[in-house]
Amino acid sequence: MRSTPREVAPGVHRLGRDRHNFYLVVEGGRATVVDAGGSAELSLLQTALAGLGMALGDVEAVLLTHAHTDHVGFAALASRQGIPVKAHEDEAAYARDRSAGSQMSVTDLPLWRPAVWVFLAEMIRAGAHKGYPVPGVETVADDETLDLPGRPRVVHTPGHTAGHAAYVLEERGILFAGDAIATRSPIRAGVGPRMLEDLFHADPAEARSSLRRLAGLETTLLLPGHGDPWSGPIAALVSQALA
Ligand SMILES: [Zn+2]
Ligand SMILES: [Zn+2]
Repeated sequence: MRSTPREVAPGVHRLGRDRHNFYLVVEGGRATVVDAGGSAELSLLQTALAGLGMALGDVEAVLLTHAHTDHVGFAALASRQGIPVKAHEDEAAYARDRSAGSQMSVTDLPLWRPAVWVFLAEMIRAGAHKGYPVPGVETVADDETLDLPGRPRVVHTPGHTAGHAAYVLEERGILFAGDAIATRSPIRAGVGPRMLEDLFHADPAEARSSLRRLAGLETTLLLPGHGDPWSGPIAALVSQALA
């Protein structure tokens, strides 16, 4: 059960727990948060910020890779505190209204696997079922470079959800991939670059095409929504994930 932040690259901190991540990017005393964990995890962010001599008011934006329950978490709370929350334009309706998006039901999961129960328990502890709606979500567009700490660029990677987006810090070679590629499945043993199981994707074929799109980037550090950071050219990691 990991809840202590870990600096995975200079100024980039990994937060969350064993089976899901969100990230804090700090630059010049200001911060960008990528994904919002579970609704009960705002305190993890506050603790991480405090450890850096910062506070919530230093966060310029929360960027959502997508509006699944384990990623929108504290976004609504952050928005109420005046922090802009942004998602790709095709994902915003989902963040505003859970019924507008593809929502996997617990009964779709292979409940005979013990790992599934460990994941569900982690999600409940994280408050992942209580994050909706995020009424104030603002939209970003594909290929837009955002004037935020880290200068993240939006890469629309539909398939996992319609408006799933990855964020790339080009100057630093860092990719926040959301659930477009993982290094650990929440429901299976084993680590390494992989696609999440088809049952997690709204459109598995489209998710595979988006993964090929990520292969065209020039990043060398993959920071996924699920699993450990993974070093290496993204093209090689994508080949591994598609194999
Ligand atoms: Zn997801
Ligand atoms: Zn996820």
